[in-house]
Amino acid sequence: MPAPLESVPPPQDRDGAGSGLGELCVLMKLGEIVLKGSNRKLFERRLHNNIRNSVRDLGQIRLSQRGSGVIIVRRPGASDVEVARIAERMADVMGVVWVHLVRRVDKDLDTITDVAVRSMADLQGSFAVRARRRDKRFAMTSSELAGHLGSRIVEAYGYPVRLKRPDHTLYVEVDKDEAFVFTDGTPGQGGLPAGMSGRGLVLMSGGIDSPVAAHRMIRRGLKVDFLHFSGMPFTGPESIYKAYSLVRQLDRFQVGSRLFVIPFGKAQQQLKSSGAERLQIVAQRRLMLRTAEALADDLGAECLVTGDALGQVSSQTMANITALDDAVDLPILRPLIGMDKTEIMDQARRIGTLAISELPDEDCCTMLTPRQVETAAKIGDLRQIDRRLDADELAEHLLTTAQVHKPSFLGEAAPARVRAAGA
Ligand code: ATP
Ligand code: MG
Repeated sequence: MPAPLESVPPPQDRDGAGSGLGELCVLMKLGEIVLKGSNRKLFERRLHNNIRNSVRDLGQIRLSQRGSGVIIVRRPGASDVEVARIAERMADVMGVVWVHLVRRVDKDLDTITDVAVRSMADLQGSFAVRARRRDKRFAMTSSELAGHLGSRIVEAYGYPVRLKRPDHTLYVEVDKDEAFVFTDGTPGQGGLPAGMSGRGLVLMSGGIDSPVAAHRMIRRGLKVDFLHFSGMPFTGPESIYKAYSLVRQLDRFQVGSRLFVIPFGKAQQQLKSSGAERLQIVAQRRLMLRTAEALADDLGAECLVTGDALGQVSSQTMANITALDDAVDLPILRPLIGMDKTEIMDQARRIGTLAISELPDEDCCTMLTPRQVETAAKIGDLRQIDRRLDADELAEHLLTTAQVHKPSFLGEAAPARVRAAGA
């Protein structure tokens, strides 16, 4: 996973062209997408769509693919702050490995040199220049260009050059019609464009784990919907508010998320009256999964996703996980299965869900928890409970009580993380 994103103040709100530094735009480096051979065009189309969707409240953008590994996003006429806001969004688009705010300049050595030197003003420590030509007709080789710019920067400021692990790096990339000058960037999410791997349905509690599980699967190219079971009418609506806020936060990574909410309290009580006792928790989880499977069928989702981690709580022993799998035919993806709680919490902090998950609520699962929880549930016993209850019919009934919400992050300001060269 990328390192936590730094908090860096945004550039001044001034017109980039007016500052003489060239138009500010966003340059993105892609990762695995470049490896996908003949599927590459499909991946690119999906990624371009996702990029456009993630900034559709920020005005009209111009997007262009450069070779297989670079995308440029421009919004001519926008202020630097507006372009920086686009860059912030790009840091959350799956499939993007690096995000750079770059100066787009004429493909002319004097202009490139002038902007490069000015981009390196007021720094502390050593530096290096990395030059790259996507247009090999440029008069200098990449290393000649890097050497030339390096010596001009030394003349101007006297910074020491260090090619291995410099404190600052100046990048210059020369394209067919223009050149781009930029300094350090921000790590993106990596992974694959959301939607590339099909659809899934995430079982979303208000807890710490399920949002992290969702993020992991979106990152591997799933487009997901979310299903939350509240304890209503026996609990308050707090868990629904939490699920809503969590989905809104996760919407940054895929755009267009839907949250389905089902009141589960009465079904839990029916399970209790049917004498589930020590099996209450596992039987509840099986009923949730069955209901989720019925919803997945309606939505065209090909898998269910949960935040289970082996051994983390009593419902997550190997025997109980096997008993959960028995309840449905769809595959249940459990991306956190081998993770420690501390690792999951670190991840939750990075994706901005931890603080929401830690808000108090009344979890429907704890509402009717028996004094002793079965850690080695027998599938035969659970199937008997399902028969007594007519679990399939109950799942179908629960589905008819679902309410759908569309928590969207669009229109929200993001914290500033990406810095422009020369800003
Ligand atoms: P989390 O932190 O995600 O709540 P947990 O460690 O509390 O997980 P459990 O309560 O056993 O573990 O739940 C395991 C998984 O079951 C969750 O990650 C989630 O996918 C699903 N789940 C649990 N409760 C609910 C709920 N109320 N609504 C939807 N899914 C749920
Ligand atoms: Mg939970």
